[in-house]
Amino acid sequence: RGDAVGFVGLGNMGAHMARNLVKNDYDVVVFDLNEAAVKSVTDVGGKSASSPAEIAAQMKTIVTMLPSSPHVKSVYTGDNGIFSTVQSGTLLLDSSTIDPSVSQEMDVLAQEKGSVFMDAPVSGGVVAARDALLTFMVGGPESKFEEAKGILSKMGKNVVHCGGVGTGQAAKICNNMLLGISMIGASEAMNLGINLGLDPKLLAKILNMSSGRCWSTELYNPCPGVVEGIPSSNDYKGGFGTALMAKDLGLAQNAATSTLSPTPMGSLAHQIYRIMSNTDLKNQDFASVFKFLQEQQDE
Ligand code: NAD
Repeated sequence: RGDAVGFVGLGNMGAHMARNLVKNDYDVVVFDLNEAAVKSVTDVGGKSASSPAEIAAQMKTIVTMLPSSPHVKSVYTGDNGIFSTVQSGTLLLDSSTIDPSVSQEMDVLAQEKGSVFMDAPVSGGVVAARDALLTFMVGGPESKFEEAKGILSKMGKNVVHCGGVGTGQAAKICNNMLLGISMIGASEAMNLGINLGLDPKLLAKILNMSSGRCWSTELYNPCPGVVEGIPSSNDYKGGFGTALMAKDLGLAQNAATSTLSPTPMGSLAHQIYRIMSNTDLKNQDFASVFKFLQEQQDE
């Protein structure tokens, strides 16, 4: 163990993460429903499997990086799922952002098989995934954290233990609620400034040396052309999909309801991203809220 990792879910994030494991000389065996995604990892030295079950039958460490709770349930508990063949002692690291209660359900099922489940959602976006600079928020037994960190640190620069299973998701949900709110705020400010006659690059420069500065103004500015090499400067292609942000804001609202926490801005951000998810911005990067606001503007 240590040199071999199974990897399921090779989308915008997972493919980069799996390739970073290959680069670090791990034997990586991958599965995704999308053949092109599989090829992007087998082309650099990974091997492919025909199902999550086939991976679990051979690998004692498995990382999953799937869109949302139903996909995770299906990959772990489905007919050809991980739990149908998982070996005792296997370390299962789920980096998808999902409902903490689903992570806890997977933990119970993993324990029944003698395996260990940890939630390890990430922050940082596709560029950080490519450059192995992600932050991992990890929930699970402390005794297994160092082993998990050994693998996760090949794909990220910060690996933080948050507590028991589900606490990684809790941290991630809070982060993304703030990110959704700040991306809408950054888009409003950029759009207003442009309408006032300011040059967008100059406005971004001023924001970034002022108290409005945040990740969404500085590294992921939603206005096209302000920062090169990110989705907003590439027609909002790739990156973190609008529908995924709507999902995360929904998870935050479920959490807020169950803990009676007031989250008025999170609630509004959720509704804005839900409405966007019913437009052709659904599969574009979530910074396209800038474009959405422009489309709503009176002539
Ligand atoms: P994505 O939609 O680009 O990729 C998901 C991949 O999972 C796809 O390749 C899809 O084919 C595959 N998949 C779906 N169902 C499957 C199944 N049953 N079996 C095998 N493969 C299956 O998503 P992403 O952007 O890579 O995000 C993955 C997770 O990471 C999400 O939970 C997201 O919220 C979270 N996340 C994304 C970002 C980002 O910037 N994109 C950042 C942090 C966290």
